[in-house]
Amino acid sequence: MMRIRRYLRGSGRVLAFVFIASVIWLLLDMAALRMSMDDVNSQLLKERVIRDREISKQQRGTQLVKQGFKNPVQRVDFAVTRAGKGPLSSSIKLAHVYRHGGQKAGHQGGHLPKADEPKHVASEHKEGHYNVALKQDGPAKKKAVDLDLNGMKSETSRGMDVIIKRTLPVVVSNTTQVPPVVHKNKHGKKGPIHSEPKVETVTEVSVLKPVEAHPVKTTTKLIQKDGKGKVVDDTASVHKVISLDLTNVPRDANAMGQFGQAALVASNEDAEVKKRWNEGHFNVFLSDKIPVDRAVPDTRPEMCAQHLVHDNLPSTSVIFCFVDEVWSTLLRSVHSVLNRSPPHLLTEIILVDDFSTKDYLKEQLDTYMSQFPKVRIIRLKERQGLIRARLTGAAVAKGEVLTFLDSHIECNVGWLEPLLERVYLDRKKVPCPVIEVISDKDMSYLLVDNFQRGVFKWPLVFGWSALPEEYIRKNNMTVSDPIRCPVMAGGLFSIDKKYFFELGTYDPGLDVWGGENMEISFKIWMCGGEIEIIPCSRVGHIFRGQNPYKFPKDRQKTVERNLARVAEVWLDEYKDLFYGHGYHHLRDRKAINIGNLTDQIELRKKLKCKSFQWYLDNVYPDMKPPLVQAEGLVFNRGLRKCLTLQKGSLSFDTCDLSSQSQHFNYTWMRHVRQQDLCIAPHGNGSGFALQLCDNAVPEHRWLHKSSNSALADHLIAEYASKRMCLEAGPKGDTLHLNSCESRNAFQKWEFTKYHTQ
Ligand code: UDP
Ligand code: MN
Repeated sequence: MMRIRRYLRGSGRVLAFVFIASVIWLLLDMAALRMSMDDVNSQLLKERVIRDREISKQQRGTQLVKQGFKNPVQRVDFAVTRAGKGPLSSSIKLAHVYRHGGQKAGHQGGHLPKADEPKHVASEHKEGHYNVALKQDGPAKKKAVDLDLNGMKSETSRGMDVIIKRTLPVVVSNTTQVPPVVHKNKHGKKGPIHSEPKVETVTEVSVLKPVEAHPVKTTTKLIQKDGKGKVVDDTASVHKVISLDLTNVPRDANAMGQFGQAALVASNEDAEVKKRWNEGHFNVFLSDKIPVDRAVPDTRPEMCAQHLVHDNLPSTSVIFCFVDEVWSTLLRSVHSVLNRSPPHLLTEIILVDDFSTKDYLKEQLDTYMSQFPKVRIIRLKERQGLIRARLTGAAVAKGEVLTFLDSHIECNVGWLEPLLERVYLDRKKVPCPVIEVISDKDMSYLLVDNFQRGVFKWPLVFGWSALPEEYIRKNNMTVSDPIRCPVMAGGLFSIDKKYFFELGTYDPGLDVWGGENMEISFKIWMCGGEIEIIPCSRVGHIFRGQNPYKFPKDRQKTVERNLARVAEVWLDEYKDLFYGHGYHHLRDRKAINIGNLTDQIELRKKLKCKSFQWYLDNVYPDMKPPLVQAEGLVFNRGLRKCLTLQKGSLSFDTCDLSSQSQHFNYTWMRHVRQQDLCIAPHGNGSGFALQLCDNAVPEHRWLHKSSNSALADHLIAEYASKRMCLEAGPKGDTLHLNSCESRNAFQKWEFTKYHTQ
């Protein structure tokens, strides 16, 4: 003993100190290494996504999935690429990627994977980004780690490196994947059963490094571009966008669908997949197996993480309305908001239950959500439809900004601040995130192309279209700049609450689903606001081929009625294009009651909103819709003369382009008209008359250049039970109706100019 004590004196003491210090150093080093590995893994994921993007860009020329509008209009360069899998060549159709496409035909989507579609091997998801990077053999592994360590360093120095916090390997409970069983806890209060560790209120838990909890403040000049490329310069206090992903339970890297990877079902589970498909019109069976707080790849353009946003952004109420939403997707939506929104900017989450019928959405949902103080549930006493359900949420919201989301989404990291920043800069800006695709079949998180914006085609069919190249060049746009968006997709956007009410909210007369995105878009633009897509804000959404819920009335009639309300209030003279492109039957007011529009028309006057012509010229100038189908002289082939209207009577004359009396229009309402006068059959059906044009009078409509090619040049009276064609008398002294003959040149008519659309 004495010897030891002696030994510890003098040089011995120094040795002991060195030994203890080394042990402490070693322990610290191990801890640091463990932390680094977490960051490395998240960085690996990011690198992989970026690499995939590069590959997909290179392959784009040949393998781009060209997606287009469904009939009746075609076009659009819409590409969907699959995270970790290159461009998607499977059956994702634009119908899955756009809302309110008029006819959401069952045949288009909602399809189950076919037996002959290639199946991914069952173990694939286990070799996701995460494990592949760590488990690959020597050189590959080293290379990857070196690369990512560099990446990590620079990330750290930017002060925003927590993207995905996870520890390897931890098995997370499965309880989050299925509806929790309700039981009584010791206080007699009902609560969900969780395996340990118990899930706590996420917003109160921080696994952040200090740097995220206290964002780096700076007074650096904030230079941002507005939608028109104008530079907004501001010197207020700002910080780098917070890229949170808070989880209080470490994530299981091997869980199904983790990191947005495709999840797979064994072939013997196909029947189960099919059985449950209709519950949500996507792979519900699989969704229930994926963690409700899974990580998704950070798909933002690289520079987004560097963007500065103001410290004093307004906070938001997030409003989800839902009807019979699938349990796991509803929970994943809520968790993604809780986990990835800076808590101080999230006032609350309002769940508006639009009179769901499913039992699990009642007490069980209350119980589950009771662990999150910020979540409020509002239950409607009867089915209102998404428009009025959202309005109910808006009416009780306490946040300065309203953020509407669909109930089957996953918000990506850093999604919220870029949206709020835009509202902060201008309260009349209505920002939308980029809507990415969560595959309805394998639940993978898919990337979408840059520079996409929401547009419409006639008859008010929503779709996506890339910004014209020239516009991008002219405005010197980068992939992270806000994109002016003529029409929002509908489901996801933020709006200043006061402004939303000033605008008169949505037209509350719209029922169930459909057309409300057109309505709010026209209203915003025409009444002084702006809609933007914010590339630094990204939210995944499951696009379904069919609405999984019932419509209280006929689905098609509901959508048509909504669209007709929008057309009547907002389209001015262009409403003819809406009716003329497939909704002729709606012109007959007796066939459909679109309800009272007085309030909406008054509102438009009160807000002094601009014309639809202004909207087309300024917001969607690349559309340039012609107001008529054809115009100019009306030439009769047999007679080789032109129709002329003089002193209230029709006759034929030598064709003369400069003569106004020979100018007629063939309108979208299928009128052959000069000013207010329409040519109409008359008497017993063989004569004709000039009448004041009336949209509701079927006798005023003529088919011309219709798909029937044999009679394409004819003017066919639409009203007659038998097909009758307009015919010129051989001497040019009569104009009458006759049985249609495809070769009769006196029944063939030609306008000077046809507008194809
Ligand atoms: N929704 C609702 N009531 C309805 C119809 C829809 O609350 O009568 C909700 C629905 O659950 C979803 C949102 O409104 O959260 C948008 O509907 P959906 O996802 O069907 O629209 P899509 O994305 O297919 O256009
Ligand atoms: Mn949806």
